[in-house]
Amino acid sequence: MTLYKGAIEAGGTKFNCAIMSEQREIIAQTRIPTTSPEETIGKVIAFYHENADRNLKVSSVGLACFGPLDLNLNSDQYGSITQTPKPNWSNVPIRNMLMNSLSVPVFIETDVNAAALAEYKWGNAQTAEVCVYVTIGTGLGGGLVIDGRPIHGLVHPEMGHMLVNIPDNTHGCCPFHDNCAEGLASGTAMRHIWKQTAEDFDENHPAWELESEVLAKFCHNLMMILSPNKIILGGGVMGQSLLIEMVRTKLENSLAGYISFPKGVKISDVIVETGLGELSGLYGAFALTAQED
Ligand code: ZN
Repeated sequence: MTLYKGAIEAGGTKFNCAIMSEQREIIAQTRIPTTSPEETIGKVIAFYHENADRNLKVSSVGLACFGPLDLNLNSDQYGSITQTPKPNWSNVPIRNMLMNSLSVPVFIETDVNAAALAEYKWGNAQTAEVCVYVTIGTGLGGGLVIDGRPIHGLVHPEMGHMLVNIPDNTHGCCPFHDNCAEGLASGTAMRHIWKQTAEDFDENHPAWELESEVLAKFCHNLMMILSPNKIILGGGVMGQSLLIEMVRTKLENSLAGYISFPKGVKISDVIVETGLGELSGLYGAFALTAQED
């Protein structure tokens, strides 16, 4: 009998669910809008049950989930979403809900840590000892994989809320911090700061100067703390193709020659775009199922 893996990329706006072969082929897929926890998770469970009836039964599920999450193995709430600003989703035991209904192991990780793992395994961070994956979209978040292992620590990294200083009087939109990267450089922040919709930011818009300045500071701090071999910049905002080069230029200026790169390594080798594109999250969820081996 062929064995399949379930992969779920659980996001704030939609749940991307797939059934995949062990060779990482997508056999069946659905996208479910994120509404209430009961309705959304109910539809996810129905998708896997219906496919099991078609002989596409999964032996385990990888869940790359928006957070914050409780990933402390000793906690009673392990695998739950903790305190999220997203209405009705705080304290939802999402892993247990799926595991109890599907009767298979469910491996949970933050969406960004999972994406970093996928980029490490198959994307633009292969062989990177220290890999950071950053998504800049509705929010701004980053995952960290060291030696192929997603890092949790005390809770798990929340690098999107790193504080950055901004020279003028720009105010960010994070409800928790006045000047964190997410509040200043997410797609939501761009709309908040410039009071216009995302579609209106053409390549000459002054928003990209501020955007690249914040992202360069964010990368500067990551470089100093983690010494990453790769910082992958992904997400919808990075769709502006000029942005990555603006970030590299500003970062090179702010590093000011302090870091001596290994011979032959350039800043464009460290600050890179995603190798898996929109699939990094789903592939990341799939990667989690390898934990059972
Ligand atoms: Zn913040």
